[in-house]
Amino acid sequence: MARKITARGFGAKYGKSVREKYGKAEAKQRQKQKCPFCKKVAKKLANGIWLCKRCGKKFASGTYLVE
Ligand SMILES: [Zn+2]
Repeated sequence: MARKITARGFGAKYGKSVREKYGKAEAKQRQKQKCPFCKKVAKKLANGIWLCKRCGKKFASGTYLVE
């Protein structure tokens, strides 16, 4: 008497791993922004505005905003 093996478990596993991978990549993008001057990780000041602790420069995500 042979047991039937269903593919149900496979489908669930695959779907979950893909979701996790995608979620991680998205979170990484939101959390960290590199300073365009010294390439170190900058701290978020406000929406779209970042402050680099190392060189003390402010910049907007994409453009520089030096003060
Ligand atoms: Zn910097």
